[in-house]
Amino acid sequence: MKPPPFVYHRPTTLEETLDVLAETGSDGKVLAGGQSLVPLMSMRLAAPEHLIDINHVRSLGGVRSDNMGVWVGAAARHVDVERDEAAFAAVPLLRQALVHVAHPTIRNRGTTVGSLAHADPSGEMTAVLALLGGTVTLRRQGGQRTVGADDFFLGPLESAVEPGELAVEAFFPAPSARTGSAWVEVSRRHGDYAVCGVGALVTLDDDRHIVAARVGLISVGPTPVVLDVSGPLAGTHVPRAARELHDQPVDNAFAAAGRLVGAAVDPEPDIHATAEYRRHLAEALAVRAVRAAAGHAVEGQRE
Ligand SMILES: Cc1cc2nc3c(=O)[nH]c(=O)nc-3n(C[C@H](O)[C@H](O)[C@H](O)COP(=O)(O)OP(=O)(O)OC[C@H]3O[C@@H](n4cnc5c(N)ncnc54)[C@H](O)[C@@H]3O)c2cc1C
Repeated sequence: MKPPPFVYHRPTTLEETLDVLAETGSDGKVLAGGQSLVPLMSMRLAAPEHLIDINHVRSLGGVRSDNMGVWVGAAARHVDVERDEAAFAAVPLLRQALVHVAHPTIRNRGTTVGSLAHADPSGEMTAVLALLGGTVTLRRQGGQRTVGADDFFLGPLESAVEPGELAVEAFFPAPSARTGSAWVEVSRRHGDYAVCGVGALVTLDDDRHIVAARVGLISVGPTPVVLDVSGPLAGTHVPRAARELHDQPVDNAFAAAGRLVGAAVDPEPDIHATAEYRRHLAEALAVRAVRAAAGHAVEGQRE
């Protein structure tokens, strides 16, 4: 099917973009990578009267990093973030998760900020932003606000972006020192949206005892789910060698963290999986994610 008719706008400056967004209000939609919006329009599930293409607004591109974290502009593609070495150094979780987003061709067009604005609870970047405690900056004609991840994702495909607003930038804070991260997921075919995905952040002290651990999950609720799993893991000594990460005491702690996650999530069944299977995946993948993040934290300490 073809999309219904629409008026195409191609602003080249941020001011012009905000003007068109103000004029078109709820009849207008931002077109970023088009990887979600265009299929929705072609299936006639979305029918905006005006499309405001932000791909020619130079100031919206770019990825900046320092030891505070990574700032991603609205027109930056997933691939720009994935391949940015400074971004990987500051926030490794970005690349760890991005390689699971769709296929390279989609990552070449799709934008990271667009993925956040789209607020698909199966989108990896939603949980990455939530797990890291990041923010999204929204601009409208004559105003700006910065929204924390907790308040940004309101429901499936519903973010805090209001008519007339443009998400101009997302900020992903760098995790604290001695923190390792990991992303694991299961999808039916490579490149499909995950049936369940889990990111983890594990922080160690100087003697490799776990002092904090959190996980972020996708595809188990209407918005990304973040859980603190420090309880069962606190004080656990993480061995230096990766093979010893499967030793009994560490494994017991990882398994307990997984059970906590399995008990806390409340997934819905759908055509892809039963609720029970998703809960099982959440538990099993949480174990894998915290184990991998603990290993990653140890690697960081060796450098
Ligand atoms: C086959 C396929 C598989 C995919 N698999 C995955 C996957 O596994 N994981 C995943 O995360 N994603 C997946 N995607 C989606 C992909 O990551 C998209 O790129 C992303 O969801 C949306 O980004 P976009 O730039 O394409 O946004 P668009 O499609 O252009 O826009 C999406 C929505 O966000 C709004 N929007 C976009 N940018 C802004 C902004 N700056 N300010 C305000 N509103 C904005 C638009 O108006 C629209 O409502 C897949 C897509 C396809 C086609």
